[in-house]
Amino acid sequence: MEQLNFRRNRRLRNSSALRSMVRETVVRKEEFIYPIFVVEGENVKEEIASMPGVYHFSLDLLAAEVDEVVSLGIPSIILFGLPNAKDAEGSEAFSDEGIVQKATRFVKERHPGLVVIADTCLCQYTDHGHCGVLHDGKVLNDPSLELLARTAVSQAKAGADIIAPSNMMDGFVAAIRQGLDAAGFEDIPIMSYAVKYASAYYGPFRDAANSSPQSGDRKTYQMDPANRMEAIREAESDVAEGADFLIVKPALSYLDIMRDVKDNFTLPVVAYNVSGEYAMVKAAAQNGWINEKDVVLETLTSMKRAGADIIMTYHAKDAARWLEEK
Ligand SMILES: [Zn+2]
Repeated sequence: MEQLNFRRNRRLRNSSALRSMVRETVVRKEEFIYPIFVVEGENVKEEIASMPGVYHFSLDLLAAEVDEVVSLGIPSIILFGLPNAKDAEGSEAFSDEGIVQKATRFVKERHPGLVVIADTCLCQYTDHGHCGVLHDGKVLNDPSLELLARTAVSQAKAGADIIAPSNMMDGFVAAIRQGLDAAGFEDIPIMSYAVKYASAYYGPFRDAANSSPQSGDRKTYQMDPANRMEAIREAESDVAEGADFLIVKPALSYLDIMRDVKDNFTLPVVAYNVSGEYAMVKAAAQNGWINEKDVVLETLTSMKRAGADIIMTYHAKDAARWLEEK
């Protein structure tokens, strides 16, 4: 046969050791954030139906969960709260006795070194289920900002290490930064949900957090999944307003956006591997249709490869164990 001219790319895949040497992307448990749902009441450890392995915890049963997170070497959790009472303003969100504030104090006392992130939004606390103040069917921007800033300050007071505003009002980072600074929390970073799409992948979370809007949808504040340039504008605003981290949410259908954000800004990029992405993997695994471990590790690797520095994921505990085995 005539000598063909081609390159032997397979040479670098010839052994496990060689493949490991040339591996470009590595997932580390030190980059994980594990989401935890806390509820009022006692003796509650209730599995969320659409998210196998993820639970609602009352504070008296939270200890074992956070101890496990710490023992696995996961450095950080993000807390989501379900209050007993909801009202038009979502006042439990900024109450010093709110569920997230109480959980934060509890966790920080037990594990001072564990980084506690507080999700800062109103939708879990408002009776209408929107992320801001609702008036005549419209979600009002500026009146919502004041409530968000109050929520962030009360979370910081409770000991939260990072404030993560997720409600997508314009100016939310500026308002929260100003509120934190005025209250003496100038050292508390803001991890902004900078690029958050109006996604169907949030379905299981809304069941878990009981936070579906009672009327309308969130399309006037969350982004259209079809838009790419808009993601840059959203991230630009948050950078200008003083964000310290940029979250891209969801992750898996938005890896291109993650790469754009990574290439255009210098702040750490956080991928939020959301509830619907988790639920799909769990469902397929339970049916024996995929190998859960391999799919999860491949998925997390793809997020890192796309530019994520940090991954918020319900798979964190399992993945931390699997990475240890490898
Ligand atoms: Zn919200």
